[in-house]
Amino acid sequence: MDRGTLFLVVACQAVALAALLHRGGWDWATLKATGRRLSLYPRLYGAMGGNAWRCCGLAGHSEVLIVGQRVLAGDGEEAPAAVHVSNGTIVGVYPFNGTRNMEDLPASTRSAAVFNYGGAVVAPGIIDVHVHLNMPGREDWEGMVSGTRAAAAGGVTTVVDMPLNSHPCTTEGPLLKQKLGLAKARSVVNTGFWGGLVPENAADRVTLEALLESGAFGLKAFMSPSGINDFPNVSRHHIESAIPLLKERGMPLFVHAESVSHVHVPEGDPRAYSQYMASRPPKFESDAISTLIDVLNSSTHESKAGFRIHIAHLADANSLAMIQDAKSYGLPLTVETCPHYLSFWAEGIPDGATQYKCAPPLRDSANAIRLWDAVASGTIDMLSSDHSPAPPGMKHLDNGDFGKAWGGISGRSRAAVSTGTKLQFCRIHTHGCAALCCQKLCINYLPSANMGPVVWLLLWVWPVVATSE
Ligand SMILES: [Zn+2]
Repeated sequence: MDRGTLFLVVACQAVALAALLHRGGWDWATLKATGRRLSLYPRLYGAMGGNAWRCCGLAGHSEVLIVGQRVLAGDGEEAPAAVHVSNGTIVGVYPFNGTRNMEDLPASTRSAAVFNYGGAVVAPGIIDVHVHLNMPGREDWEGMVSGTRAAAAGGVTTVVDMPLNSHPCTTEGPLLKQKLGLAKARSVVNTGFWGGLVPENAADRVTLEALLESGAFGLKAFMSPSGINDFPNVSRHHIESAIPLLKERGMPLFVHAESVSHVHVPEGDPRAYSQYMASRPPKFESDAISTLIDVLNSSTHESKAGFRIHIAHLADANSLAMIQDAKSYGLPLTVETCPHYLSFWAEGIPDGATQYKCAPPLRDSANAIRLWDAVASGTIDMLSSDHSPAPPGMKHLDNGDFGKAWGGISGRSRAAVSTGTKLQFCRIHTHGCAALCCQKLCINYLPSANMGPVVWLLLWVWPVVATSE
């Protein structure tokens, strides 16, 4: 192993286990105390069938004991523990100090197959509230089978799919129900959906209500052209039209926050990343975010808990100050960034490497470091992947033309691992990572009202090996 490498991620093995997640957050102690029986299978929308279990390495064992030295507990600390799973249900979590106290475990665990993950982290499955599965209609871009398998491979056990780039886009209730049906047959992880807010439905309360009642967790809108013709961007007026309904229902509005205005970019090499970056300056983001804050300030409707405007994939660190300010005086505003804005820096992007094209663009290392600080401080509320694959031809990998390439980065299967490794590098501990990627999301973004009385999570094992460095 190379010197200088702090951690080597040797594998990412999703292990299907369920953990209780209740309104106050997931909590081993509560789980143990209540003895509630938890299904091993995801139950979000009842969409999963047995897919997850068939993919799971624990299949074939009716009684399983997962033991490890680093089980993330509800208090945010790692602890040695044994998790007893019986017929797909977690029935107990016990302190565990090694094989010497096996006999101290309840007799009911004696027949269980023991899986000892040693120093690997046993953590709640990650929730990714921003993915594009592109189904129905663009299965050649992705699909629920490959998209959710990639999620599982990356330790993600719940994804929430955007209303685009499926075709048709999810802007009406029946279209959302169609996605639910597809997820039931094909998804291998919990799969939920956002509904689309577009100019056509923004003032159509009946359509928006039907969309939300069909199971959407909230709405998603673009303030700049989305790149998909049947998902046009909205104006401030459209957003203001939809907000009363979202406030009434306590549901979030996700926004792609870039306000595109004319920008003069001198003629240059279309293969140069700097050309693309100059075409979407940080001002696009700060203008949009400023508008959203103004919208929140201007709205006088009563708001039910759960309503917020959520800024998707923040790239511009300069906008953090106004976000922090808005939060400080209580505006319901939250923000996510993505692993690629933290992990990839403009200075390092080779000419023609259009796989790095996304919108807003990746910015420089100084910007990324400020985003990291905001992740650490909590100004950035969560990480999500914005997993958005496209066929290689659309990325123009052959000619490396940033202007023509489709914008979108795929990598759900890697994002958590790379981010988790870097989080540790930055001394944000694993429980901090779990909070960023799991706990806060469940509490704040996936309201239990939409998920039935209990929300199901899978656990995953996160093998991280420290080097001698
Ligand atoms: Zn997206």
